[in-house]
Amino acid sequence: MQEINAVVAGAGIWGCTIARRLAEAGRKVLVIDSRPVVGGNVRCEIDPETGIEIHSYGSHIFHTHDDQVWNFIRRFTEFNGYQHKVLAHHNGKNYFLPLGLTLINKFFGTELSPSEVSSFMKDERHSTALFDAFFRGYTSKQWGKPPESIDPGIIRRVPVRENYDINYFNDYNQGIPLRGYNSLFENLLDHPGITVECNRPYKLGDFPGVKVFYSGPIDRLFDYRYGELPWRSLRFETERLNITDYQGTSVVNYPDIDVPYTRIHEFKHYHPEDKAVMAKTQTIIMREYPANWKKGDEPYYPISNEQSLALADKYKEEAAKIPNLVIGGRLGEYKYFDMDQAMAAALKIVI
Ligand code: UDP
Repeated sequence: MQEINAVVAGAGIWGCTIARRLAEAGRKVLVIDSRPVVGGNVRCEIDPETGIEIHSYGSHIFHTHDDQVWNFIRRFTEFNGYQHKVLAHHNGKNYFLPLGLTLINKFFGTELSPSEVSSFMKDERHSTALFDAFFRGYTSKQWGKPPESIDPGIIRRVPVRENYDINYFNDYNQGIPLRGYNSLFENLLDHPGITVECNRPYKLGDFPGVKVFYSGPIDRLFDYRYGELPWRSLRFETERLNITDYQGTSVVNYPDIDVPYTRIHEFKHYHPEDKAVMAKTQTIIMREYPANWKKGDEPYYPISNEQSLALADKYKEEAAKIPNLVIGGRLGEYKYFDMDQAMAAALKIVI
């Protein structure tokens, strides 16, 4: 192999963005990943029978208000213009999230105008009823504990609006890569300065003297010497159905506590521009079940509390003492990053 002057360990969004920047700066980069394929949890598979793109680790919708990120990513993929909308199925009825006039007026049977909604919601009976219907059960299932004991910043991810906007995200720039997420990664890594080796985990001390950009689990890097960082995991059940359309949209949330899953994804709706796939009399749905996590399971969401954040800081301090080592990404930083945030962080790193 040609001489390398940088290693990227972990080929998710953060790692692949760094690799591309390094290569464009003239470095010879080796990208390694312990998995057999690149893309981290953004990885998709194409169902051979229907051609439907399945988001193997749950729905991923790219959205950002960061112009630098938006300009960078569009060098490697076109987007299809998809705008994310989410339904919540509560008590036998479908409501459009987020909390806005569409949901509130349907739920309470009112016809509130934008100027009336704020005082209406100040009435604790109303806000409690909404919270109990759409957040309490979902959050308890998702995090395995009551909503009062989770970081309030997590629930604040879901916007609250005083208008009829039913976009799930506030970001104007959003979509799904026109030719799929895997092609985004292929294009990011398609540079003469980049070599990729899959099935190759990184161990501290590998590649002496070479700068390493690591985005695997930070506790694993140190053999869990201070203990394991806790995660929340997910389990998916995928089904191919012989009908054209199961739920009429890409994601339906199930906030009611008596339903064991939190949402159902129906992937063909992410590519409405693909008329051939949309017309197929088959569809693929995936039920998402939150799950406890133990070492060896797939980590999805960091469980952020005082203790876990202190432990993550301890590992980060250790990492900072190691010359030529840069840590990042969701697993490396132990942060609930959206894809654009991981990319933004990678664009800011001094390479
Ligand atoms: N949430 C909820 N009900 C919903 C959707 C979200 O209670 O219908 C809460 C839940 O605690 C969840 C958080 O809001 O963990 C963030 O939701 P988001 O849709 O951003 O979750 P993600 O897609 O990142 O899993």
